[in-house]
Amino acid sequence: MDSTRESEGMHYEGDCIRPPPEAYSILLQVTLGCSHNKCTFCGTYKDKRFGIKDNDIILSDILFASKYMKGQDQVFLMDGDALIIPQKRLLWILERIKEHLPWVKRVGAYANTKSISKKSLQELTELRENGLGMLYLGVETGDDEIRKKISKGTSAKQCLEMGKRVKDAGIQLTITLLLGIGGKEKSLDHARATGELVSAIDPDFASALTVMLIPGTPLWEEYERGDFHMPDERGLLMEMKEMIVHTNLSHCLFSSNHASNYLPIRAWLPEGKQELLDIIDAALRGEIGLRQEWMRSF
Ligand code: SF4
Repeated sequence: MDSTRESEGMHYEGDCIRPPPEAYSILLQVTLGCSHNKCTFCGTYKDKRFGIKDNDIILSDILFASKYMKGQDQVFLMDGDALIIPQKRLLWILERIKEHLPWVKRVGAYANTKSISKKSLQELTELRENGLGMLYLGVETGDDEIRKKISKGTSAKQCLEMGKRVKDAGIQLTITLLLGIGGKEKSLDHARATGELVSAIDPDFASALTVMLIPGTPLWEEYERGDFHMPDERGLLMEMKEMIVHTNLSHCLFSSNHASNYLPIRAWLPEGKQELLDIIDAALRGEIGLRQEWMRSF
């Protein structure tokens, strides 16, 4: 390893994102971009060619964190889907984290259905035993017609199987759902199918986001052509309500606190189901104010 690199700070390249629960984590960029990079609504990594960063850069960042980030007890592996890293190499990263950042309690990463499918249950279990404690899976929708249209690359059935594999390995699972992604026309179909898929996966956490139309993405072009009609605020509330109605979860924290949403709600399901539905109904009656458009972001 080039010893001069250690003093340069963290080697972040391009825009870096992480999920809200990782706000105070050590952000360790181990990949660039997303290995899929085809979802029509996603503009996050459009400017990045996918790659795995060199081990010496990764180690340099871990060593930097070992000196200057002693107060942070979680690591989040960026960018898009660190789980795509071959097993041996990913284990090497987890081992270096354990060695140099012994106070870290949990390592998290984004994953997608494809990257999970590259790991056997045994391999995922091995990753969990070496510190990987949380995966964030972008489910978006349970409707196969919409999944195909947005180029998600996998079916709802595959998504279910891979979500279950993560849970069977004992890794905590957060899934993200995308309100509005079926457009006006498929809004309620999307809501029902997604509620059912979430229930079948039965994750620890489910987070609803709202589609933001990002210039340069294929979805933006569809919208500009008049081929995609975004549900309005009321339509999105009804969609979220229908989604929640169709959940049958054992123990899952459902939230719509993400900045892209008009109505932030949060409760453990199934206990808090009626509470959430009552809040949405109150918002539909205009008794609860919605987040202003200018305050929304992805
Ligand atoms: S898998 Fe995730 S990061 Fe990759 S293109 Fe799709 S939404 Fe974007």
